Amino acid sequence: MYRIRFHGRGGQGMKTASRILGNAFFEAGFEVQDAPRYGAERRGAPIFAYVRAAREPINERGIIQHPDLVIVADDTLVPVPASGVLAGVSAHTVLLINSIDAPDVWRNRLNIDGPILTLPVAARVEDRADLPYIGATCAGAAAQLVGVITQQALAHAIETELGGLGGAVIERNLENALGAWEFMAAHQGLVCEGVAPRVQDYQRPDWADLPLETARLSAPTIYTAANSIEVRTGLWRTLRPVIDYSRCNRCWWVCSTFCPDGAIAVSKDGQPQIDYDHCKGCMVCVAQCPPHAIAAIPEHQAQAEEAQLAGTPGDSP
Ligand code: SF4
Ligand code: SF4
Repeated sequence: MYRIRFHGRGGQGMKTASRILGNAFFEAGFEVQDAPRYGAERRGAPIFAYVRAAREPINERGIIQHPDLVIVADDTLVPVPASGVLAGVSAHTVLLINSIDAPDVWRNRLNIDGPILTLPVAARVEDRADLPYIGATCAGAAAQLVGVITQQALAHAIETELGGLGGAVIERNLENALGAWEFMAAHQGLVCEGVAPRVQDYQRPDWADLPLETARLSAPTIYTAANSIEVRTGLWRTLRPVIDYSRCNRCWWVCSTFCPDGAIAVSKDGQPQIDYDHCKGCMVCVAQCPPHAIAAIPEHQAQAEEAQLAGTPGDSP
């Protein structure tokens, strides 16, 4: 059985990637499961989707814990433990990261033994309108890596899955998927089917038994007040709102009220200040600012400019 996980951010099309790949596997004669798994259902939040494909009926259920292939659409997710990108990755697992950094760079960073590939076809997302197209790219690469899906099956799966979105969308997705397919040609069939798990090999999850106490004692992290500040939702951002203070007329009640995450504070003299650790990049403030004093800058560009000012290397995760 093939066990494949797609990791990305809400809006990047990981569910679509799993559906396209699942459909293509089905066309190739496989039994298939594909399903997305969401956390916070918000654009930019980490999500993953998974595909199981086998020649015989699939009796496994639930999240894939020992993947044969992991595809990461956004390399900023790799170092985020909560996104679970590296969960269950072993020397058998092929890791494909959409990144401009070379595989050896990632090998040194992650210190893992399995094959690592990078997919620079859609390395940077300049515009939110481009986010959905990464899903088809990832599906195209995955189809080539498993080596049992024809180009025709892949194309037909894209047409089937995206049929309702019109010819231009299908054409663009096809182009991206087939580009990734060609890019991965040298690695055709690199992903091997994993062995079926045996009952004898079952290991209890590595959890901590909590004593039976009141919730306040036994789950202090959850019940401690005001702990949401520890969650740096700024990591979700693909676009950064930047205030041009020369145009800002200090109508702070507009942007600070509309910000759904309370990420815009106001100084004593009425100047809005964005907390980039917790701004998730929804661009609501950009849309609401009356004099258009807030610009949307691609996050990687903003980080590169910051690094240049600080005299340090760019935005490597
Ligand atoms: S809404 Fe725009 S102009 Fe008004 S305070 Fe916020 S950034 Fe400045
Ligand atoms: S983009 Fe603007 S509205 Fe959205 S979280 Fe950031 S500061 Fe708040």
